[in-house]
Amino acid sequence: MIPVLELKTQYAAIQQEVEEAALRVLRSTRYILGPEVQAFEEEFAAWNGSAHAIGVGNGTDALQASLRALGIGPGDEVICPPHTFIATAGAVSLTGATPIFADIDLDTFNINVESAEKAITAKTKAIIAVHLYGHAAPVDQLKKIADAHGIYLIEDCAQATGSLLNGQHVGTFGICGCFSFFPSKNLGGIGDGGMIITNNDEFYGKALMVRNHGSKVRYYHDMIGTNTRLDEIQAAVLRVKLKYVNEWNTRRRAVAAAYNKGLEGVAITPTERPGCYHVYHQYTVRVPERDRFVSFLNEHGVGAVIYYPVELHMQKAFANVVPAGFSLPASEQAMKEVMSLPMYPELNDEQISTIIDTLKQFKP
Ligand SMILES: *Cc1c(COP(=O)(O)O)cnc(C)c1O
Repeated sequence: MIPVLELKTQYAAIQQEVEEAALRVLRSTRYILGPEVQAFEEEFAAWNGSAHAIGVGNGTDALQASLRALGIGPGDEVICPPHTFIATAGAVSLTGATPIFADIDLDTFNINVESAEKAITAKTKAIIAVHLYGHAAPVDQLKKIADAHGIYLIEDCAQATGSLLNGQHVGTFGICGCFSFFPSKNLGGIGDGGMIITNNDEFYGKALMVRNHGSKVRYYHDMIGTNTRLDEIQAAVLRVKLKYVNEWNTRRRAVAAAYNKGLEGVAITPTERPGCYHVYHQYTVRVPERDRFVSFLNEHGVGAVIYYPVELHMQKAFANVVPAGFSLPASEQAMKEVMSLPMYPELNDEQISTIIDTLKQFKP
């Protein structure tokens, strides 16, 4: 069986460095907001070309803390794509604001610019663009629209560490970029972790306060914040892994290129728009008879999964915020046709050939 994701090979390749880093923290007894988090924040900001970085507990918290730092809450609307992990819009609901769903582009699966603009009302405070599967959303265009309407652009970069648009790192176009270091992401920790990056000094100050119970000075609280901190062990391990992300993303792109070539005529392969540097968190194709196709692959030893089987505007959890009969045709088509294939830098050429050959055997 070739699984959709396999982390053991990568761990073995960097085991000594990772274990030394974790041990260094254990022995230091500095576990919260110590030198590792500070160093990793500086390194991650520099790597992305942003002025600041704020380590937080996970990617969901990165989004929620950003929204709260911007003062977004009850009565406000935030525009989101429906074809994404629930955290994108869930974070909006957690602040008391309302997620409003806009449609996607079928070629990249990212939010559609016109649909996002049409969804803007007097209550809209922000648009969240998700760089889904590792491909940059059109944040250059969305930024112009956000500026014209006096609202914020927030970037959900959970699947897109290292992804570029016109040579610039995602997460640096809007007011902030929100990252997840969940173990399966392109830069994954040994547990939960997240990061917010920003070029805005004022936002940086607010986000720091939200992270740490609304306090700048210990035991003096200017607002109700929360406790969502990246911990020292995660930071130490992520510092090791950050050194390899470019190399890993390069290999992901080579795997994708091999798939693209082998799957011509078998599936609609992913688009890489001009100016984009796709980092293939997922390699997601569109196929007819998708459910039968996924079963066929799984029965023949090839992992294949559906990201995502239910669009967010169709989820029970959002039934109270979505009008009856509301429909987003492109996203609903994606929901029926998408299938993600095994994708990780350690996939070898023989496995890639096996996967392609197996896909070719499917009879629609
Ligand atoms: C993983 C993910 C998140 C949430 O990150 P966590 O660290 O799991 O909280 C948010 N948005 C997207 C698009 C994701 O893929």
